[in-house]
Amino acid sequence: MPTTTDAQGHSLGHLSTAPASRREWRYAMGILGVSLLGFVLTLPFIKAPLPQIPAFVPVYVAALATCDLITVVLLLAQFRALRSPALLVLAGGYLFTATITVAYAAVFPGLFSPHGLFGAGSQTTSTLFMAWHAGFPLAVIAYALAKRARPVQGSMGVPMLAMGVGVLLLVAGWTLLATAGHSLLPIFLDGDHTTPIGHLALLCVWLLSLLALLTLWSRRPHVVLDVWLMVVMCVWLLDLALAAVLNGGRYDLGWYAGRVYGLVSAAFLLALLLSENAGHYAQLVRLTAQLGAANEKLERLSLQDSLTGLANRRCFDSYLAEQAAVASRHERPLSLLLIDVDHFKAFNDHYGHHAGDDCLRRVGHTLGLSCRRPADLAARYGGEEFALILPDTDLAGAGLVAEAICAGVARMDIRHAQSSTAPHLSVSIGVATLAASSAAGADPLIVAADTALYRAKDLGRNQVAVQP
Ligand code: GH3
Ligand code: MG
Ligand code: MG
Repeated sequence: MPTTTDAQGHSLGHLSTAPASRREWRYAMGILGVSLLGFVLTLPFIKAPLPQIPAFVPVYVAALATCDLITVVLLLAQFRALRSPALLVLAGGYLFTATITVAYAAVFPGLFSPHGLFGAGSQTTSTLFMAWHAGFPLAVIAYALAKRARPVQGSMGVPMLAMGVGVLLLVAGWTLLATAGHSLLPIFLDGDHTTPIGHLALLCVWLLSLLALLTLWSRRPHVVLDVWLMVVMCVWLLDLALAAVLNGGRYDLGWYAGRVYGLVSAAFLLALLLSENAGHYAQLVRLTAQLGAANEKLERLSLQDSLTGLANRRCFDSYLAEQAAVASRHERPLSLLLIDVDHFKAFNDHYGHHAGDDCLRRVGHTLGLSCRRPADLAARYGGEEFALILPDTDLAGAGLVAEAICAGVARMDIRHAQSSTAPHLSVSIGVATLAASSAAGADPLIVAADTALYRAKDLGRNQVAVQP
């Protein structure tokens, strides 16, 4: 699935879709190096007995189950977004680990009852430990194999529910076997010491984790999640080696150190998913700001005439209607100037459209300068016609502004050899005012200004005509 990028090129890809970069590999190698160093330093003292801390197992299990459950929620959120069956399988693996550790704590001797709950026997915890440490690598193998599977179609709720129920039934089944079926179990643990059968079973579980690591490695291309899952599996292998294969039994240094490694590996993906979520949140904030700025720009452009930079016809219409309403409500006059460039067709024909455009830009600039008050608005009305809206301005005041515009355009002294009015470019202006007490609205004001403009044309152009 391709990754998307925002305007700044930040990747919007998920952990499970973005290809692993060299940076990820470097970090992964660094973390692996530190884990291996800790492992090697522990090895000489691995069988050293340490004090039995009764609170250790419940604290460890609570932390592990909490990490795993939050990981499940985050993985399911990614599954819902991407519909990848591999993510559902992986979430199932984490749910399995979370629930079986709770079962493990329930049957652990001395925690909830002297011999463990549900009639646990001497082999119950070991059996659940084996199932726990075999189940997760199996889920990782299934994840790696399902990576290229087609996205789930239709409802997402059904597969998620099926996964949840399936995992809970599996854990319940194992717990039942390890308690009610205790007499059927092989002897993994003799007191606090692992038996040869126990060692063999642990070796098989360890090899299964190794197989999970190799399967992940073989399923290329590697996405970011694959790299970190490989790190998780490596730490998991060290956990098993310390706490079950190489150590002597419960409560020695290897056993405690292995539990710490187990917790680190469980918290690992969680930290990654949380940091990815935080990154997405930051991206969302950035994108929202970009979108707001783009919207603002779009709105500005939608109201602007592209040639002159003045307000366009759309903006003119809504502003005039708004100001007509304000003028009527406050009983203030509202004036309108309609300005038409004289003999402009002849100008275009003689000097070309490019020069014509330039000329319109310059007339527009002069009009913009005529807007002295904040509420005044200059607009391009259409073609070579412009308009000036002058709120709170009476007919006499508007006439003065119009005269100033006429003089300003003449002062620009743009040569117009084809004009029968003047040797330079000129404009004719019609002025109209909506009287203070009028509630007539914008349309009659436009008609009145237009009529005045026609009069200015009829009277010889290059002049101002006001409504009678
Ligand atoms: P009058 O003095 O009676 O107003 O004559 P006129 O030639 O100005 O009026 P007419 O309506 O006959 O022609 C207007 C011309 O304005 C036609 C067109 O070539 C020109 N025009 C309209 N819009 C543009 C534009 O965006 N750029 C350019 N270069 N010319 C334009
Ligand atoms: Mg015209
Ligand atoms: Mg004209």
